[in-house]
Amino acid sequence: MRTPTQKQILSAFRGATKSEISKVTFPSDFADIDFSRREFYGWRDAKMPRRAYVVVERDDEFVALLLNRSEAKPRRRAMCSWCRDVDITEDALLYTVRRAGARGRKGDTLGILVCEDFNCPKHARKLPPAYHKGTDVDAIREQQVADMERRVQTFVSEVLSTQE
Ligand SMILES: [Zn+2]
Repeated sequence: MRTPTQKQILSAFRGATKSEISKVTFPSDFADIDFSRREFYGWRDAKMPRRAYVVVERDDEFVALLLNRSEAKPRRRAMCSWCRDVDITEDALLYTVRRAGARGRKGDTLGILVCEDFNCPKHARKLPPAYHKGTDVDAIREQQVADMERRVQTFVSEVLSTQE
């Protein structure tokens, strides 16, 4: 994805209130993030332990979502819905996102199990634990990354969808 500025992210939030957006804390290493190796960027709010954010690029625009970690704990070692990393090197947590528009204002949310620190782009670049000689590993990696990106984009589409 392109590199967003903090200002661009703050103006890209959908389904979040002005008050929620005003309390967003960016990670201290924000300036060092390599966005070229990410299909989305997510982080947890250092000041609000149950809050997290995800930014994606969509139709050449940034879209940011506000996530709340659910009180309900998923069963241990749940698999992330986005990277589907079978090694589960990072715990997946259940997050809920308020839907955009009228549905969100009525309290309608969507839930998703995602790696707690949103390292899905990194996991998707890992190679499968076993592969045959002659396997095109670059093609596998490319496919994994594309699949992960598609799942993220599908989820964002659902959140933004205003259809009843
Ligand atoms: Zn993941």
